[in-house]
Formats: sequence, C-alpha cells, structure tokens
Amino acid sequence: MLVKKIEFTNFRNLENTALCPKDGINVIFGNNAQGKTNIIECLWLFTGGRSFRGSKDSELIAFDSDHAEIRLEFNSEGRDQCIELNIRNGKRSATLNDVPKKYLSQIIGSFTAVVFSPDHLTLIKNGPEERRAFIDGALCQIKPAYAVQLSRYKKILGERNALLKDIPRHRELEDTLDIWNEKLAAEGAAVARTRALYTEGLKKHAALFYDGISEGRESLEIEYKISFRAENTMSSSEMSQMMLENLRKRQSDDIYLGYTTTGPHRDDLSVKINGKEARSFGSQGQQRSAVLSLKLAEAALLAEKKGEAPVILLDDVLSELDPSRQDYLLSRLEGMQVFITCCELSVPARGMICVDGGRLTCTEE
Ligand code: ATP
Ligand code: MG
Repeated sequence: MLVKKIEFTNFRNLENTALCPKDGINVIFGNNAQGKTNIIECLWLFTGGRSFRGSKDSELIAFDSDHAEIRLEFNSEGRDQCIELNIRNGKRSATLNDVPKKYLSQIIGSFTAVVFSPDHLTLIKNGPEERRAFIDGALCQIKPAYAVQLSRYKKILGERNALLKDIPRHRELEDTLDIWNEKLAAEGAAVARTRALYTEGLKKHAALFYDGISEGRESLEIEYKISFRAENTMSSSEMSQMMLENLRKRQSDDIYLGYTTTGPHRDDLSVKINGKEARSFGSQGQQRSAVLSLKLAEAALLAEKKGEAPVILLDDVLSELDPSRQDYLLSRLEGMQVFITCCELSVPARGMICVDGGRLTCTEE
C-alpha cells in the first residue's frame, strides 16, 4: 500500500493543496495546533472508517465552508487507484476509482491503514466496547464481509431487544421470543468465532512486539473473552448451541431488564501485562506500549492476510517513548510507508512535511 498523492479542499485548517509523500518514513513536523493530526485524520478517512478523534463529519469541513473534498491516489494490488471523499451537509460520500459508491462501507478494504494516536490509550483504559470496536474495525479491513455479518447481528439484537421491551405489556409475545433466540445465536456465534480466531492471530504478533518494546523485560497476553461461556476453540455449531442455551437461561432476566444480557455485544478482549490486567494495574507507559503492540500486531496481520502492508499512521507517539523504544518502533516499520507526527526533528526520514498554520511544505531527506 503506497500513498502517492493527497489533495485537500476545505479540510479542517489545511490549505487547499496537494501533497506527494515518499515511500518509507514521512515525518509530519510542526508546532502545536498547526494541522499535523489533521493530515493523519484525513489519511485515515480513506479507509472508510470514522474519524479516530470521534469527530462528526461536519467538523471536518473548514470553518466558513459548506463542503470539503479530499482525494487520495494510491498504489495497491499492483495498480494505481484513487478514492474521493466529499463531505457536505454533515454526510460523507465516496467514489472509488471514479465509480460513485452508494454506501461508504463499500470502500472499506481498498485502502488499508493502521492508526495510533494518544486517544487510543482508551483502548485499555475504557470499557469493553472500545476493545470490541478495535477488533471489529481491524476485521472489517481484512474481511469486508465481516461488516455485513456484524450489522446482521446488530439488527437482530435490536429486534430482540424491542420485543423484550414489549413483552411485559403483551405477555403473549413471549412465545415468539425463541425464534429470535435461534436467529441471534446463529449470527452471534459467527461473530464471536470470527473475533476469537482473529484474536488468536493477533496474540502471537502482539506478544512479540511487546517483548521487543520492553526489551524482553515484560510480557503481554491477550485473550478474547466470550460472554456466553463458549470456548474460543469451539466450532460454529457448538458455539451457537452454547449461546442459545444461555439466551434461554437468561430469558426471564432479559424480559425484566428489557435488553439482551448475553452475546458478542457483551464480549471483551482481556489485555494482561505480566499476568495482570493492564487496565487496572498497568502504568501509563505499559498501557501505551500495550496499545502500540496491538496496533503493530494489527498491521502485521493485515499485511499477512492481504499480502500487502497497510499504511502506518502514528500521531504523537515518539515524544512519549524513550530512545530505545523509539529505535525499536522505527526498526519494526521498515519496508512500510509511515506517517509520523512530531514537534522535534529527531527522526531519520525519507520525506519531511512541514506544517505551519495549515500551510504544507515538503522537503526531502
Ligand atoms: P498538536 O501538536 O497540538 O497535536 P496539531 O498540529 O496536531 O497540534 P491539529 O489537531 O491538526 O494540530 O489542529 C490544528 C488546528 O486545526 C487547530 O488549531 C484547530 O483550531 C484547527 N481546526 C480544527 N478543525 C477545524 C476546522 N473544521 N476548520 C478550520 N480549522 C480547524
Ligand atoms: Mg496533534
């Protein structure tokens, strides 16, 4: 995966211009509040994901403008391709290789990237929802069909929850609940199994990266935790049976509460450092290194499955790492195209993008 050209029109504070990055490491350099993260965010949007800052689409448009347009020329699968994103009236629309797409999700998997920003520390610090979203996002880039599978599960879950809320007022509806239990168990098992298998692959890479980052002093262990007591190694039908049994067992609780208390929407990813939960016991630096390892592992798996390395987007990473961890990180990124923001010029780079009040100037090594 190689970014060849990015064009910005009315995007955040960035001037309307085009940028031609180099292969290898591109350093995005500038003082605070100049537009560095805006460039990283722009690149990430071409994956088809939402802003990793949690921004609304309308916030991406430059103040005083009514629309923004960003365009990416990249090389993937041996050919030059392009994606155009238009943001207008708070909505994004996309064209892939000049063909308009009805849904934004149709571009997912074309341009692949892995992003790390300080905000991603919440992956460890916050609740299970963010960890599930991390696995889901990573899986969607590898296997766009997974996005369809997941939305099918969420739709059935919503329907079962609506029914649960209606049952106390219309008891006769309880008889129809088992049809939804069966549908939900079949889709839910497929989602949980895909996530569990993905986590097995991620586990090995993440452990190796963490070992490298910590210079062999600490260990990282991750595990997908299924909420409905199925084993990660079970077949789809065994898992589906387990989930169905759990749904039936908890049926009266679910009716009382008005929502479904078991299923992959309640699963978690356990992240342990030296055998202890990183969320409760990890230091700031350990948590950062753990997230970084998860992200590098995500990139390694993406490269393995797609046969081509994703673009790596690193926002404000270096200032937080000591020199040996910086060296390790940069050595692991060899051979990939990397965009890395920093306020000091301390990294050997192929390309240098200077950002000053949204004005971009490129220089070479
Ligand atoms: P830091 O080093 O502090 O992280 P940065 O260079 O990464 O800084 P950015 O987060 O990219 O800075 O933001 C740069 C500027 O973009 C901010 O000052 C912000 O006011 C401005 N900005 C954000 N959204 C918009 C927008 N929609 N229109 C115009 N300017 C915007
Ligand atoms: Mg920034």
